[in-house]
Amino acid sequence: MKWSFRIFTFVGTEVRIHATFFLLLLFVASQELMGGEGVAAAVESMLFIVAMFACVVLHEFGHVLAARGYGIKTPDITLLPIGGVARLERMPRKPSQEFVVAVCGPLVNVIIAAVIWLGLGVTARIHPGYDLLQPGHFLQKLMVWNVFMVVFNLIPAFPMDGGRVLRALLALFLDYGRATRLAAAIGQGIAMLVAIIMLLTSTFHPMLLLIAFFIFMAAGQEAAAVTQQEATRNLRVKDAMLTDFRALPPHATLRDGVELLLAGAQQDFPVLDAQGGMQGMLTRRDLISALAEKGPAHPVRDVMRRCPEATQPGMDLTRALDALNADGCPALPVIDPLSGALVGLLTAENAGEALMVRAALARLRAS
Ligand SMILES: [Zn+2]
Repeated sequence: MKWSFRIFTFVGTEVRIHATFFLLLLFVASQELMGGEGVAAAVESMLFIVAMFACVVLHEFGHVLAARGYGIKTPDITLLPIGGVARLERMPRKPSQEFVVAVCGPLVNVIIAAVIWLGLGVTARIHPGYDLLQPGHFLQKLMVWNVFMVVFNLIPAFPMDGGRVLRALLALFLDYGRATRLAAAIGQGIAMLVAIIMLLTSTFHPMLLLIAFFIFMAAGQEAAAVTQQEATRNLRVKDAMLTDFRALPPHATLRDGVELLLAGAQQDFPVLDAQGGMQGMLTRRDLISALAEKGPAHPVRDVMRRCPEATQPGMDLTRALDALNADGCPALPVIDPLSGALVGLLTAENAGEALMVRAALARLRAS
């Protein structure tokens, strides 16, 4: 995330803080000072904010450690004024696991509140006018804050934990993509509702409006990201490779190459030996330029490119496309691992078409 700074690293997870968080500290301190509460009160309020965010960090580590139990690492946690965002390597796709990971954050706050309440014997009377920013009653306020975090995070909207809980529950009945889109729509609906209520009752609360806006954006992003993942997930090289292609023997001449080029839509030709082993690729570009320089009787063997990278039909498509991009060749030969024979060609164009078809089918299913 842009505008964030590292503060420390714990069990392989970097804790970062977003610049806007410091605005919150400044805002709180200035409120105290302008309210004539004095420097001591301002310092206490800032300490309280730090304690609040310590609870946020513990909350995030609840998610991080639960995810770790399923073998999922978390590279970083970013603290924003509205809470923390743990960037898990991936979210568990199993609804039951996502449910556990989502719930373990708020569970930490339940435990903190319970420890303060039962362990320290602190009680707080919570009422709507309760102000966390008033000086004094440090532990009471911290307990109230933890209760608030539980309630706030269980709002059923992305990126709140409640949104994930909702998706996990929906995913028990719907497929993952649909569950995500529905959960995102519910979250956006809630955000809109909050904004509309604020407009109708003309109670303008900038922080709440900011949160509603943030939720609205984040919910849309989550739905889009999952739709994108659905399109490429589980795609293998064999789903996107070109299987109907022409090849040239090494002793063929450039004239043979030109004939193949003019005969069909194929532009790049693999050069295969008698056993079907891949020798190289004759690209259209190389063919045309060699034709002008060396004449039509020249053997393709001298003109073809060596393509040392190869892939296999069962290979993950995303990884194979990375290899294709890194390689200088226009097509990646797809080699059968058992026979060693060339069974297909992977080109960026063909893979792009396969992804488009997949996305169109996903949209059809979603509608
Ligand atoms: Zn959480």
